[in-house]
Amino acid sequence: MPRKPFIAANWKMYKTPAQAQDFFKGFLSLVANHQRDEIVVCPSFTSISVAIAAATGSGVAIGAQNMHFAEEGAYTGETSALMLRAIGATHVILGHSERRQYFAETDDLINKKLKTALQHHLIPIVCVGEVLAEREAGKTDEVLLRQTRGVLAGIAAADAAPIVIAYEPVWAIGTGKTATPQIASEAHGVVRAEVAQLLGREVAESLRILYGGSVKPDNATALMAEAEIDGALVGGASLDPQSFAKIVHY
Ligand code: PEP
Repeated sequence: MPRKPFIAANWKMYKTPAQAQDFFKGFLSLVANHQRDEIVVCPSFTSISVAIAAATGSGVAIGAQNMHFAEEGAYTGETSALMLRAIGATHVILGHSERRQYFAETDDLINKKLKTALQHHLIPIVCVGEVLAEREAGKTDEVLLRQTRGVLAGIAAADAAPIVIAYEPVWAIGTGKTATPQIASEAHGVVRAEVAQLLGREVAESLRILYGGSVKPDNATALMAEAEIDGALVGGASLDPQSFAKIVHY
C-alpha cells in the first residue's frame, strides 16, 4: 500500500488564539477538499482549542508540540496526553530538536513520551536529526541510528503503526539551508532500514518519514518527489496560510 503523504505545521511559540483563528480563515478555503495528503497543524497549547473549533469538519487535524509522559501529577507547567485528547487533539510532536537543545530532552525521555502517546491514541510525530558538527564529522548515520533505537526502545511492532518519524537535520531548521533531496532521502533510508531491523519490514514499509528543515513552497516539490520522503514538517513557512497551502499543494 502506498504511504499517504503527511504535511505538518509546527507553529513553535508563535500566534495568539486570535491569530490562529485568522490563519484558519485564510487556510481552510485554500485546502478545501484536498484529499491527497494528511494535513496537521500543531499550534502552541493556548491555541489548540481555537484551532480545533476552526478546523472541525475540514479534514485538517490539530496536534500539540509536546506533552509530558505522565497521565497526571505534580509537574507544574506540563500538559498530559489525557488533557490533549480531552480537548480533541489527535497528534503530538515529540523530541523536536528545540526541545532537545533548550529543554534537555533525551532519547530516553522521548521514548517515555512516545509510549504514553501510543497508549492514549495520539499520533506521535517523533523527531530525529543530527547537528552540523555531527554531519561534518561524518557521524550522521551513527546519530540517526542511536536516536532511532533510543526513541523506539521497547515499542512492540504491533503498537507501532501510528508512529510518524520526522528527519530534521538541526542545521537546516530555521536557517534557510535545506537538505538536498538526496541528503534527506539517504537519511530517511538509514532510519527506515533501522526501523525494519527493530520492528520488522512491514512496519518499516508503512512508516511515514517526514523531512523538516526550511521547507518552503519553492523546494517542497523536489523534496516530495523522492520516494523515501513521505511528507514535511514545516516551521516558519507554515505560519502564513498562503505559503503553507502552497506546500500542501506541492
Ligand atoms: C521545524 O520547526 O520543525 C522546522 C522544520 O522549522 P523550519 O521549517 O522553520 O526550518
